[in-house]
Amino acid sequence: MSEGPLRITITCTECESGINITPTKNADVAKCDICSHEEAVSFSEEHFKNILKECPCCQRKDFYKQKDFNRKIGVVLFVIASIIYLFTFDYTYGIPVSLIILWLVDLFLFKKIPPVVICYKCQSIFRSVANIEEIYDFNHEMNDRIIYSDHNFHGEQLEH
Ligand SMILES: [Zn+2]
Ligand SMILES: [Zn+2]
Repeated sequence: MSEGPLRITITCTECESGINITPTKNADVAKCDICSHEEAVSFSEEHFKNILKECPCCQRKDFYKQKDFNRKIGVVLFVIASIIYLFTFDYTYGIPVSLIILWLVDLFLFKKIPPVVICYKCQSIFRSVANIEEIYDFNHEMNDRIIYSDHNFHGEQLEH
């Protein structure tokens, strides 16, 4: 399922640009290409095996997974489908065919692109995570408690 090294996108705390890194031996900082600010990182052996248990940026263990849908492709497809719809009035059984095609392409893209993992605390994004099956979907209550009251769940999923 995972291909290549773990890919990490950190958000620069200075300028909010994305800093793209992969686990690197002996690296303790990731430098922002835009403003040269350095973010502290610490990699463990697990990170080199694409296993994500602890965030290399904030050392928290609370993550969620999210579908990695390419917004730009989505917008382009929607525009194309809308144009087809406007110019053809392609109703079949009362449903526009162009919208069915869009829905199918959308479904295909969602299926093809593996989900990304995001750190609740520092919002770092992780791709090619081998243990993705262990990671839960976004939990609103966990997010609120981590972001607003700095709660640490230590990797324990809140059950509901
Ligand atoms: Zn920066
Ligand atoms: Zn983090």
